[in-house]
Amino acid sequence: MSPLLPGATLGILGSGQLGRMFAMAARRMGYRVVVYSPDADSPAGTLADEEIVAGYEDEETLFRFADRVDAVTLEFENVPVAALRALEGRTRVAPGPSVLEITQHRLREKEFVRSCGIGVPAFARVASETDAIAAVEAVGPSGVLKTATLGYDGKGQSRVRPGDDVSGIWRSLGSVEAIYEAFVPFAGEYSALAARGPAGEIATVGPTRNEHSHHILDVSVYPAGLSPRQEQDARDISREIAERLDVVGLICVELFLTESGEWLVNELAPRPHNSKHWTIEGASISQFELQVRAICGLPLPEVVAPRPAAMANLLGDVWSDGEPRWDEALKTPETALHLYGKRDPRAGRKMGHLTSLAETPEQAEARVRAARAALLSPKTSTAS
Ligand code: AMP
Repeated sequence: MSPLLPGATLGILGSGQLGRMFAMAARRMGYRVVVYSPDADSPAGTLADEEIVAGYEDEETLFRFADRVDAVTLEFENVPVAALRALEGRTRVAPGPSVLEITQHRLREKEFVRSCGIGVPAFARVASETDAIAAVEAVGPSGVLKTATLGYDGKGQSRVRPGDDVSGIWRSLGSVEAIYEAFVPFAGEYSALAARGPAGEIATVGPTRNEHSHHILDVSVYPAGLSPRQEQDARDISREIAERLDVVGLICVELFLTESGEWLVNELAPRPHNSKHWTIEGASISQFELQVRAICGLPLPEVVAPRPAAMANLLGDVWSDGEPRWDEALKTPETALHLYGKRDPRAGRKMGHLTSLAETPEQAEARVRAARAALLSPKTSTAS
């Protein structure tokens, strides 16, 4: 397949911040970008060359989109598989529909990872109250019940503790197909990323350590403080999964590190990932440029991250006291601000992030946390 060179037009399904940062990377490299999503005036659409506002079921508009672009990728993995199938054959689609069929469905995803010989938490399928009881017997009384589809950031899931009424919990999740997983008392949460091109070439980004708050990613740090062996194993897991999935584009692997030092895969995301935003300032090739390169069939040389980096998310909560003190936060050295152009800063909504670089990962983390805390500095009085 001949590479798509700068000047070509790239389409992206989904229009949030991941699409926005993809559009920035692609346009910097001289590509045209067309965004397709149901939302007007979106974070990605406002930065693209063109924004198409239509539903993912609207075949006619999908065909028009396909005619306008040389390749289509995505920033949102819950795009209906049928939309990718409609586009396939008319334009290059990366990742392809078979990847989404697996990664949109938690059960298929875990079965797939297990079939690669890679560790996952013990799990069982739950599609009835009887299944719910059997799953707890098979997997153990401490677990997490998750809907098979459409869950993210802790939505569509519920913790199960010994003695809980699992059938009731399953009903409260809507009595839909679900997966019951053993609760992993992990030592830490990490994520590894692989970018894979159409000829099978792969570049990996080493594991990042991730901290969550209320089920939403809060802070990511690289390097992650792992042994060289653990770091290599995490990269190898992302590489193996990219190959076995036959993905073109990105695959981010969310991982638990158990107390005994074993990697278990929690989730796969076939798109850029919040935990890798630090690559924009911290790595030789950002995850967004990796996505561009991978789908276009451009070279994927080794990704180098010369300095430790840390990223802190800015949720709508940061606006609870009015406009954040950007002037205070930006005093922090080696710190970059990213805002996604969203107007309504609701609590829990991802509005932007900060990335800091420093001499050590600990310093980078302290720096980015201090910068974020500075956003909440007392307001200077404007009263005369
Ligand atoms: P998920 O939506 O599957 O990524 O889950 C969101 C968060 O819930 C994860 O980042 C973990 O902190 C936690 N979690 C999910 N599954 C498990 C599990 N099996 N054991 C322990 N914690 C979990």
